[in-house]
Formats: sequence, structure tokens, C-alpha cells
Amino acid sequence: MLSLFGSGIGRDIAIGQAYVLRTGTIDTPKTALKRSELDAEVSRFKRAVAATLKKYRTILRELPKDAPKESAAFINAHMMMLRDPLLVDESIKIIRHEQINAEHALRIQSGNLIKVFEQMDDPYLRNKKTDVEHITNRLLRNLLGIVAHSLEDTSEDDLRGRIIVSNDISPAETLFIKERNVAAFITDLGSTISHTAVVARSLRLPAVVGLHGSARYINENDLLIVDGKRGIVLINPSELVLKQYRALQRRHREREVELNTLVKRASKTIDGQKVNLLANVETINELKEVRRVNAAGIGLYRTEYLFMNREVAPSEAEQFSAYKRIVAGVDKPVAIRTLDIGGDKQLDFPYPQKASSESPLGMRAVRLCLNNMDLFKPQLRAILRASAFGRVSIMIPMVSNYDEINQVLSLIKQTKRELKAEGIEFDKRIKVGGMIEVPAAAIMADLFAQQLDFLSIGTNDLIQFTLAIDRVDDAVNYLYDPIHPAVLHLIRRVIKAGDKANIPVSLCGEMAGNVQYTRLLLGLGLRNFSMDATYILAVKERILNVDTEKLHYRVKQILKAGNPSVARDQLRQLNQL
Ligand code: PEP
Ligand code: MG
Repeated sequence: MLSLFGSGIGRDIAIGQAYVLRTGTIDTPKTALKRSELDAEVSRFKRAVAATLKKYRTILRELPKDAPKESAAFINAHMMMLRDPLLVDESIKIIRHEQINAEHALRIQSGNLIKVFEQMDDPYLRNKKTDVEHITNRLLRNLLGIVAHSLEDTSEDDLRGRIIVSNDISPAETLFIKERNVAAFITDLGSTISHTAVVARSLRLPAVVGLHGSARYINENDLLIVDGKRGIVLINPSELVLKQYRALQRRHREREVELNTLVKRASKTIDGQKVNLLANVETINELKEVRRVNAAGIGLYRTEYLFMNREVAPSEAEQFSAYKRIVAGVDKPVAIRTLDIGGDKQLDFPYPQKASSESPLGMRAVRLCLNNMDLFKPQLRAILRASAFGRVSIMIPMVSNYDEINQVLSLIKQTKRELKAEGIEFDKRIKVGGMIEVPAAAIMADLFAQQLDFLSIGTNDLIQFTLAIDRVDDAVNYLYDPIHPAVLHLIRRVIKAGDKANIPVSLCGEMAGNVQYTRLLLGLGLRNFSMDATYILAVKERILNVDTEKLHYRVKQILKAGNPSVARDQLRQLNQL
């Protein structure tokens, strides 16, 4: 038995067989052909082009009537590229001249085209290289008959109960694999606060990330134990170890039963402080858990997951129906966050201001929306329409300056006017809040609290930006420290700004669901926690057993501690009170 150690995600343990995924570039071995084989090779290539075109025609035919104009335009552009002599005829010429297989010829020609696009001055044209890559990969998969082990082409039966072993997994893929009932995943890259990790936790998909070179030790179908809590992967464990892990799984289930007794208890501290425990959700499938744990509402609905794993953006009608289902599904307040894409959350379809890099500091969240009205406007309309059916609020991610907030507010006003003129119902007094994720926003919280109806502290990003640590880079993950005094001072500042302006402040980063920080956050004055629903009862247990009056001294010590080990020691003492 071999053990690998990485960073664990979630609290669960999974046992299953390995499914080793080949991601990244598709291998295209070069094969020399005889002159007599060339005609057949060219025909094979043409058949792959025809099959890919057919697939696009189906997508086009199945587009909803009210899909945005760009959706059809995007598919048509891909189809045009597939008919373009520069891609097709030139690849055929290479097959014939070089006497090589179609895959390799296509790879050469697509490389030539990518180089041309990379040299373009216009950023929109430069971005076209991703279209070439997309089409090339589709064609290659068709040519190679691949299928196996590229996520896009696997069936639910292939994946059910398996443990995916991959170099990396994107947030969109995490959603995809969960829908196919994968038991767990392990990756060479990745960190515990990336969006992939956030989604995995909320979907209760145990994972170990940052394993570096795991595929060297793991073969297809090996039996694996993935221990998300401890960050351990065991390869082909002995019967004895399997027995121990199955016992651990049983103990987890017993603990859950114990926590279930708290569902009906009011969330109040010993000294009578009421604490709102809200849920973060990514998909409608999570509502069952939200209702089961009796969450006070949804403090963060990450709408971007509705836009992932698809060829076109969801229309206003589709969004409206999804938001309405969420609102009706909980019958409690729901904060719908507008699209937070960019950075490590990418969409498959193009839109005009698509970020050219995956930097979290780039074209992301509200900035991306304000630069892409075709994405933003239908979403605002859909949220406003859903607000007629329950207590909905709009939450704006990653606000960083006064003008940006004003732009969003006037856009919402304008959208309301349009809906009114069309005779469409919406909540006229809908609340609009902002996520405090950028240090500048935390520092300006006093001012922002006057513009907005509520604030929500997104500590995942706030910590990333305050400490200058890329949240997806496992090499600097060890510096990600929620109790760094700089972070805590900013959190306290935002809570105070909210109190002063008499508006609610919640915290919706991963920190809210970690029981280690419950007392600390209560001591900083936080009374609205929003977290993955599966953590709510454990946090409630902490709340029921704490007297906030007794927290002040230790919290002050933590805020004062310059040295991280002193801060950790004070936190330990705070949690032992
Ligand atoms: C955050 O940054 O803390 C947050 C809740 O948003 P996300 O994790 O989706 O970036
Ligand atoms: Mg964020």
C-alpha cells in the first residue's frame, strides 16, 4: 500500500476505483503513411470534419428561441472555421505533402493559425486562438475516436462511483463530475480555497489536491481511499486499512445523526445573541440540504454555475425560471449574486470582453459584467422578475470603487423602468448589496455602506488580495491565513461600517463554515454567517455553546498578535474557553 499526502477538501472519505483522466493537450502521435494510404487518410479527415459540422448543426437547431444573438453567431463562426480552406484544405495538403496522419497534420496547421492570431493587435482577434484550439480539439477527438478519459465524452456509467485522478480540475468540471456521480477526485495541482475546492465542498465531493505526480503511482482501476479531511490518498490499501476507513465512514454518519438533533433549535448564543445561519448554493440540487438543515435563507447564490458546461449563455427566460425555482424552493430570503466569472471560473462560450488571462485581478465579476451588457442585462432582468416571487436581493461581486457601484445601481434602476413599462412584475424595493472582497472596498466600507443595502464579506478573495496569494496556486497556499491580523482588521472594519450605517453585514467565504473561526467571528461582531449548507449544524453547535461576553479579551489578543504562531495559540485558547 502506498500513501500520498496533499491538501484535503471536505470532511468525507471515499473508497473507489481510479479513473485516470488525460487532460490538457490530446496526444497526437505522428505516423508516416505510404503513398497508397493517403486517399483513405484524407477521407477519414473529411469525415471527421463532416461529423463535427453535424454536431454544430444540431446545437444550432436546438438553441432556444430567445437565446442571445451571439450564441448562434458563435456557432456559425465555428462552422465557418470548419469550412475554412485555411484549416481544412491546408491540413489536407500537409497530409499529402508530408505523408503523415490527419491528427498530426491538423495539429501542425492549427499551430500555424494560432501563431497568426497571437500576433494580432486587436484583443478580440487575438482571442480567436481559443476558437481554433476548441475546434482542433473537437476534430481530434472525432479523429481519434476518443472518448475515453476526456471528461467531455464520458458517460455516467463510466464515472459512477469512481475516483478521478487528474492533473487539475476546473470548477465547471467539478460540477460536471458530481452530476455523473463520481465518488471523489484527486489532482496534482490545486489548493483548498480555489473555486474548484469551494464547489467540491458544497457538493460533498471529497478530494485531495496538490499531490504532484500522483498519476505516476496510480494505475487505472487501482483501489483508492480518499480522505478529504486529512488530505491522504491510500493506493490499494490492505483489508485491515479498508476496515478501519469503513469504520471511520460509519462514525461520520453517526456524528451527522447527532448534529441533526439541532435542526429545530434557534440559532442563539448563551447570552441570547441571535445569529443568522445562511447557505451558499451553486446549483438547485443543493436546496434539499438547505431545507434539511433549516438554513435562515440563502446568503450567496453563485449564479455563474448556471452558465458553465454549455455552448451558449442561458437566456433571460431560462435564468428567470432557474432563479424562480430557487426562490420558491427555499421560501426564505435569497441573495442572488450576479455573474462572477473570469479568473479560475471560465465559460466555454465566447463573449466580447472575454478575459485574455486567468488572473483573478483581471476582467472578472462586476467589471466583466459592466463590460458585457449582453450578459449582464438579461441577468438583471431575470433576477428582478424572480423578485416578484419571494424575498430576493441582488449581490454584486468584487466591487472596488464608488463609480462602479453607482453604475450598477443606475443600471438596475433603468432595468426596473423598462420592466415597469412592459408591465412585468418585480419587487420595487429589492435590496442591492455588495461583496467586500477587495481590500480597497474593505477600507472604503463606510462609504459603500451608504450606497448599498447590505454588505457581504467574501473572505476567499479578500484574503487572496490582502495577502497577495493566488488562491489557486498550491505553491503559496501555506501563506493563506484567515487569522492574519491584516485580514481580521479589515473584517472588523466592514462589520463596524455596517453597524454604523445600520445595514446587515454577512460573511460568505469558506471561513464562515469553519468551526475553528466561529468564536473569533462572533467576537468580531459578526451575526450573519453564510456557508455551505452541510456545515451549518456544526457551526450552530458552536454558537449554542458560547457566551459572546467572554470572547472579547482573546479576540483582542488575536487582533494584536503580530506573530502568526501567537495568534494561533490565542485562537486555540479562545476555542477552549
Ligand atoms: C469569496 O470570495 O469569499 C466568495 C464567497 O466568493 P467566491 O468564493 O465565489 O469567489
Ligand atoms: Mg469571491
